[in-house]
Formats: sequence, C-alpha cells, structure tokens
Amino acid sequence: MSGHRIWVLGAGQLGSMLLTAGRPLDLDVIPVDIDGGCEPDLRSDDIVTAEREQWPENAVTRALAAHPRFVNREVFPRLADRFTQKTLIDSLELATAPWRAVEADTREGDLHEAMGDAVLLKRRMGGYDGRGQYWLRQAENSAIPDDWRGQAIAEARIPFDEEVSLVGVRNRQGQMAFYPLALNLHVNGILMASIAPLARLEVLQDQAEAMLGKLLEELDYVGVMAMECFRVGDQLLINELAPRVHNSGHWSLSGCSISQFEYHLRAIAELPLARPVIKGQTAMINLIGVERDDRWLAVDAAELVWYGKEVYAGRKVGHLNLTTVPDSGLMISGLQQMRALLPARYGEVIDWIHAELAS
Ligand code: AMP
Repeated sequence: MSGHRIWVLGAGQLGSMLLTAGRPLDLDVIPVDIDGGCEPDLRSDDIVTAEREQWPENAVTRALAAHPRFVNREVFPRLADRFTQKTLIDSLELATAPWRAVEADTREGDLHEAMGDAVLLKRRMGGYDGRGQYWLRQAENSAIPDDWRGQAIAEARIPFDEEVSLVGVRNRQGQMAFYPLALNLHVNGILMASIAPLARLEVLQDQAEAMLGKLLEELDYVGVMAMECFRVGDQLLINELAPRVHNSGHWSLSGCSISQFEYHLRAIAELPLARPVIKGQTAMINLIGVERDDRWLAVDAAELVWYGKEVYAGRKVGHLNLTTVPDSGLMISGLQQMRALLPARYGEVIDWIHAELAS
C-alpha cells in the first residue's frame, strides 16, 4: 500500500519519528497538530492513527477520529482511562498491581487495610511521566484530595526489583512480532534510559509475549503497543499499556532492522511485518530539560534524535542511542565521552548503563 496517506493524531516527537520512518516506504505520513485550526482534507482511502491515547474534542480531532479507517478507534478510550485499562487486564487474568476505584465514599482506612501503608493514587485520565500520582501514607494520615474522588484509582505499592517493557506489533491477520524486553530506568516517574536486549531478561521473554499477545488478540489490535511491567522476582506485573509507539522502544531506531515506527506503519498499511533482526545491544538515553549540545554529534557511536521543542525542566527534548555494533568498545568510550557533555545528574544514568552492560 505504498503511496497512501497516513494521518497521525498529534504532532509531537512520536508523530515526527513516524513521518521519518514512512519516507523510505513511500508512505506519506502527516502528523496533525490537535490544537491546530485547519481541518484535514481526508480522502476515503487514507488511514488514520494516533501518537497519543487521548485528545481534546475539536473540529480537527472529530474529523480524524470519525474517519472509517481510523485504526484501533475503540481501543484508545479503553486504554486511556486507567479504570477501564485495569478492568481489561483483570478480565484476562493478567498480573497487575492490586487496585480499586477511588469513589465519592472511598475511605482511606479501607484502602490501607486492603493495600498496606503506602497506597498510590493515579488519576484515571491524562497522567504521564509520573504526573497525576499521589501517595497516600497511613503514617502521615494523608487524605484523598476531594477532586480526585471519582477521577482516580488506588494501587498497592509494588516493591519491584526493576522495570521492563515489551513492545509488540500485530497485523490485521493476527500475525505478531515482539522486540526483546527492554530494561528501563525511571527517575521521579520519568523514563531516563532503556537498554535492549539484555541476556538476563531472556527468561522473562515468553511470559511477557504471552501477556501482551493475549491483550493484542483480545483487542483485535493492529499496530504497535507497549506494555510496561514491574519485575518482582521471576514474575511480571503489568503497570501500564500504551496503544502506540513508546519511548522505551526508541532504542529500536538504532538497534534493530525494523524500528517500532516502521513496524507500526507496516501493520496499519497492511505491509508484511517480518521478524525484527537485532543489530546489537543499544542504550537509549532520554534528554530531559537539557539544552542541545552539538558536541554530542562528535561522540563515538552516538545517534541523536533532537525533537526541536522548547527546552524546560522535566521536558523530553530528544534522545541519544548508543549501540554495541560494530564495536562495543566504541560504545563504552562513547558513554564516557557523553558523561562529560551531559549535566551532572546524568552521571547515575551512565553508571546504570555501564553496570547493566557489564552484568
Ligand atoms: P506510571 O505513570 O503508572 O507509568 O508510573 C510512573 C512510575 O511510578 C513507574 O514507572 C514506577 O516507577 C512508579 N510506580 C507506578 N506505579 C507504582 C506502584 N504501584 N508501586 C510502586 N511504584 C509505582
């Protein structure tokens, strides 16, 4: 289906990386600013997808979402709301953090009795990068904020060993492909770095694929989906699902024959999927609230994707991939060079990558 137009609801970095991935396949990917005023001139054989799971209602988003070839239309509202997302996970008997809805009459004491001293409130809609979270601690007698009632779920605190994610793709015929699990480092709820593949995570791969595969089948999903998990011993618990390309899959731009962006396009444009062929181990470092520094481009093995956004604290403005192929020594020296060129707070991120690569 080359030559066709694919509209993307949203014009952030994910839309832009989809656009870039579409070029070699002669797919005309058009990210649409959801706050923009100009209504898209949609044709009946166009395809519509999204780089985000929710959007404001306006003439532009209404036109895109109403298109008959808006892929996964029913899935977005179901996964954008943590209540319906968790209900789906439970209905498939997949492991996730114990939870319940926060209602008008929910009592803090009952939550602590069921889930322990620390209970994490998460807003049902719109929370990301650790935003929309609120810890209730029994010892501090903290109370549910009034405006969170009816708008949040409560989750037990999971004493996890680490956080991993699986990115997978499914086409209309039900064929699926999965990347190796990525290991993720979050700091204050924001993804700072991912590494994939990692030999010690291979024992969890089948478990993770069975979980995400069950979800993709149940939703009759087409395209890329990400499943973020907590690892507790040898068990995975689903934290969150994203019906789209995902930050923890950015490593695939450098480390794999087919990036997650290309996979998503192949699936929705009904092109062959093929298996992902891993080129080498890749570390992805998120650039968060960092001013661009062109000296990064002089670093061995470093591949920069700069999002061209205004820089402010806490904002994802780009990422760097470093891959072990063709030379793992170059990647290690690249990481060392990068240490000197990034803010001091990246020291712990680079130490984490070094330790994991050596493990
Ligand atoms: P989320 O917005 O759900 O992706 O959460 C952001 C981060 O908060 C996660 O990556 C975890 O580091 C942490 N977190 C979320 N849920 C829990 C939980 N139930 N127990 C402990 N930490 C959590």
